Amino acid sequence: MQQSHIIDVHTAASQKWDVIVVGGGMVGAALALGLGQQKFNVLLLERQHPDLQWNPEAAYGARVSALTRASENILKNLGAWQGIESRRYHPFSAMHVWDEATPSEVHFSAADMGEPNLGYTVENSIIQAAIWEPMIQLPNIKVLLGEQLEKLDLQSEQACLFLKAGSELKADLVVAADGAMSQVRQLANIGLETHDYEQCAVVGCVKTEFSHQDTCWQRYRKDGPFAYLSMVNNVSSVAWYLPTDKMQWALDLSDSEYVSALEEASAGKLGAVTEVAERIAFPLVRRHAEHYVKSHLALVGDAAHTINPQAGQGVNLGFLDAAALIDILVAARERNKPIGQFSVLRRYERWRRGDNALVQRSMEGFDWLFKQDAELKKTVRKTLLPMANNLTPVKNWLMSQALNGREALPTLAK
Ligand SMILES: Cc1cc2nc3c(=O)[nH]c(=O)nc-3n(C[C@H](O)[C@H](O)[C@H](O)COP(=O)(O)OP(=O)(O)OC[C@H]3O[C@@H](n4cnc5c(N)ncnc54)[C@H](O)[C@@H]3O)c2cc1C
Repeated sequence: MQQSHIIDVHTAASQKWDVIVVGGGMVGAALALGLGQQKFNVLLLERQHPDLQWNPEAAYGARVSALTRASENILKNLGAWQGIESRRYHPFSAMHVWDEATPSEVHFSAADMGEPNLGYTVENSIIQAAIWEPMIQLPNIKVLLGEQLEKLDLQSEQACLFLKAGSELKADLVVAADGAMSQVRQLANIGLETHDYEQCAVVGCVKTEFSHQDTCWQRYRKDGPFAYLSMVNNVSSVAWYLPTDKMQWALDLSDSEYVSALEEASAGKLGAVTEVAERIAFPLVRRHAEHYVKSHLALVGDAAHTINPQAGQGVNLGFLDAAALIDILVAARERNKPIGQFSVLRRYERWRRGDNALVQRSMEGFDWLFKQDAELKKTVRKTLLPMANNLTPVKNWLMSQALNGREALPTLAK
């Protein structure tokens, strides 16, 4: 692999950057790539270089994302989509949601909406590698690996990031793309609204007896939802939601006990589970940063917000953050405004924070409706779901909101 994109700390400290992006996960890398294509000088800090080698025989990764049309457009416009196509991905054409406690069900179909599909399931490691590939070809993006942060100074004319090893990195703008536990957000003293869903998600890929029919299946159960996201052939990615106190129990199950539990949770929808791969689990917490920006600082992706993954929106919202921030910074430069100026960055916050909060809250309403088995909720579900299923325009509108995004779309998402 070509290594000229990796620089050492002395080289990084010897120049002033337009933007330092901390975190080269899916969102941070997409932001760095987009800014690099717009001719900004970008330094990307990441703990570890992702593996860009592709082995088609590799086992399926446990972490998978359902990508929306808006994300597909962003990745295509960034030149990252071909890296996904050349590896492994899967378009799904329907989504079937049903309820354990009532006979209600809703079926969303791409054909009904006149869409080619309802999105794509892709392993996170593939999305990240597909973004890194074009990113490291750009001469104005450099990568600094494995450095630890100590302090962030946003009070001067520029941002100054102090490293534990003693060096200082300077930029007009620092972007926190360092995930849910963002250290940059903490160093900037930005508070966090949090809500513990008291639920965890057990995820991993499995093979099943019957084909998934290119459909994502989601069953609402007393303990939480269970989903099969369709991947290639008979492979599906499992998302099994449970109360947090059952997380360790689920991880400790033997493979044969795990198989039985999945068959029970899915009501045998895809027949027997014939093969299981690595499984991992996450406690689920909603987080929302109280501010997305300060002078010389912006937060994107999970560093700004985490959401209940039931709707599969987390990274999709993060890509919209990145694309919106790119539009704002390009517009500021065209008007000769400093890109680290608070009033410039506030435009980004106004654009994205409300939309992200709306998606977080809508997911909670949905989760609340299905979570408990109170008679009233069951009656509401029994009434609303068949209505939604029969009202095709309403159903299509709901799906279109999830697929295409709600607010005015950034340039890259069109
Ligand atoms: C069970 C589950 C299922 C999900 N399913 C979906 C789905 O179907 N669709 C969807 O859209 N979203 C989904 N999500 C959410 C999605 O996974 C996240 O929103 C997404 O991974 C966030 O990407 P990110 O780049 O913002 O953060 P991360 O993926 O957390 O990346 C952060 C990066 O920053 C690096 N980093 C951290 N600290 C430092 C530091 N100090 N210095 C340098 N680098 C640092 C890390 O190494 C990492 O590479 C799901 C989440 C869960 C838990």
